Amino acid sequence: MILITGGAGYIGSHTIIELHNAGYDFIVYDNFSNSSKESLNRVSKIIKKDILFEEGDIRDSITLKKVFKKYNIASVIHFAGLKAVGESVKNPLSYYDNNVVGTIKLLEVMKEFNCKKIVFSSSATVYNEVDTKKFTPLKESSPTGKTTNPYGTSKYMIEEILKDLFKSDNTFKITILRYFNPVGAHESGTIGEDPNEIPNNLMPFISQVAVGKKEFLNVFGNDYDTKDGTGVRDYIHVVDLAKAHVKAMDYLDSLLINNKPLIVNIGTGLGSSVLKMIEAFEKASNKKIPYKITQRRAGDIAKYYSDSSYAKEILGWSATKTIDEMCEDSWKWQKNNLNVNKERS
Ligand code: NAD
Ligand code: UDP
Repeated sequence: MILITGGAGYIGSHTIIELHNAGYDFIVYDNFSNSSKESLNRVSKIIKKDILFEEGDIRDSITLKKVFKKYNIASVIHFAGLKAVGESVKNPLSYYDNNVVGTIKLLEVMKEFNCKKIVFSSSATVYNEVDTKKFTPLKESSPTGKTTNPYGTSKYMIEEILKDLFKSDNTFKITILRYFNPVGAHESGTIGEDPNEIPNNLMPFISQVAVGKKEFLNVFGNDYDTKDGTGVRDYIHVVDLAKAHVKAMDYLDSLLINNKPLIVNIGTGLGSSVLKMIEAFEKASNKKIPYKITQRRAGDIAKYYSDSSYAKEILGWSATKTIDEMCEDSWKWQKNNLNVNKERS
């Protein structure tokens, strides 16, 4: 059985559907700090099966041990953590505590129970921002570690901890997935990203403009060295991303021994500008997205996207969904779920 930490969240809830479809058994472990049981109810309806879950915090070793005692956990997919860049600058201790301390606690318990397979959610944010221009498309070997905020630093630290853990015990089988920009939602329109406050990221913001919750979008700069002057990113449909976790699990299960932690970019290998995303969303929603060009956002970089060839080579995975599909599914989710926060339990 796979333990899915943070399985009620945005990426976790999509991943459990794909794991179920692939025949894996799992149990979700989540403290619901940024999600709700309602998302698990909805997944349950999609897969037509009850979902096993235990409420708990990854930093709470006592509860975690109880879960390991109760279930036969052979591997972990570790999504749990805090993810808002701006908030991490304001509350660095809480980010290091949740993400870094939480992961250490989890790894200690895994070790105690001889559970040594883990897939970890890392991020393209670990790549050195100053070097992105030189190294885009970013390969897994591109330089990392010169992060610019506590969130990114926490991801980088965890990667280093996992590498050191492997050096100390090479029976661990570790896969680190570096996600690019996950967007979109399940085609049912019943689960998706549900930001608690004002969204910082482009897609949730565009969706809220389309649905009338926000008047207009601020486009942060149109004087970058890109085709139309706006920032370029590698957006990836969350269902494609979810499927990458199934491939990562298949891969770890097939290994007798891992030579080193596997690090894989999960992106499409394509870059899309802000204006291109607005255009695609307008087409998907049949709504006008009013926008204003404003100043560049501090710390933003012009352009980066993945080299996604290694994922194809090692995991046999590549993204299949287009930005039109990403926008159609985001829109379906957004228009059906105006007040999903109220359903939090
Ligand atoms: P999310 O906030 O929707 O999901 C995270 C889940 O973890 C939530 O359900 C939350 O309640 C839970 N959680 C948080 N702290 C916990 C703790 N201490 N103990 C137990 N549960 C806890 O976020 P997401 O977008 O699904 O992201 C999942 C993972 O992927 C995170 O580690 C995130 O950093 C990483 N990631 C996300 C993105 C992105 O843009 N969404 C990009 C790169 C990496
Ligand atoms: N962006 C924007 N307006 C917004 C939010 C984002 O113009 O309200 C731009 C941002 O400058 C970047 C791109 O959209 O070029 C993606 O931003 P996001 O925060 O989603 O991802 P990240 O920058 O963290 O990769």
